[in-house]
Amino acid sequence: MTRKKLVFANWKMNLNSDSASQLVKDILLTINKDIDVEIVIAPPFPYLDLVSKLIEGTKIDLASQNIFHEENGPFTGEVSAQMVIDMGSSWVMIGHSERRQHLLETNSMINKKLIISASNNLNAILCVGETYDERRQDKIFPTISDQLKRGLSEIQKEDLSNIVIGYEPVWVIGSGKSAKPKDILEVHNFIHEMLVSLFPKAEELPRIVYGGSVNNENIESIISLENVDGVLVGNAGLDCKRFCDIVMKVGVSHD
Ligand code: PEP
Repeated sequence: MTRKKLVFANWKMNLNSDSASQLVKDILLTINKDIDVEIVIAPPFPYLDLVSKLIEGTKIDLASQNIFHEENGPFTGEVSAQMVIDMGSSWVMIGHSERRQHLLETNSMINKKLIISASNNLNAILCVGETYDERRQDKIFPTISDQLKRGLSEIQKEDLSNIVIGYEPVWVIGSGKSAKPKDILEVHNFIHEMLVSLFPKAEELPRIVYGGSVNNENIESIISLENVDGVLVGNAGLDCKRFCDIVMKVGVSHD
């Protein structure tokens, strides 16, 4: 079965209301409206509403970069699943390595977020990936296996079609240099095998996308790999031309 390819832009903590609005308008003018690619943009929380209004009726969907791991209550400064839905999000990012590192998010918190996102019918991208030290110590597969097993614990097979796994090797994020295609292929195949063994009865398994210094020059070598169903884009997603080039190249990759 060929699955729709996904291009997901993570804006992180960048832009302001003027530049965010300009970037969305430029992207909408540049992308081919008939392109057969799923496109998602994850702006910072304060710009969800603004972006939501700009993309209404277009082929771009909106993601929140995070939700809290409880539904509501005394959690000052946090944002719930229902709140991001209220702002127009149909997607959420869960377990990005920057949150694991700077906010000390654990696999258990990440699992709770995924369960909440599933019960609220949000599409979720669950980010996994090894650090440089874990790679050096030959711990790539145990690390990712642990992140997947714990992150997906108690997730029902019916919820899997709303989940995407984002493989993001931490050591290449923001470095300007993506992982080598053979390394990406090896880990994506491993993730695919793990998903098959965790959910032997599932009719549809999560798509698997790659993230880590994807740009308009390396995209073709990445998107053509087996078990790569799309890409998660950080820096290159902040530039209209680079982002739209990526979308276009993903589009032609499976014509
Ligand atoms: C990311 O942080 O999700 C990411 C993919 O970043 P970059 O493309 O800048 O490496």
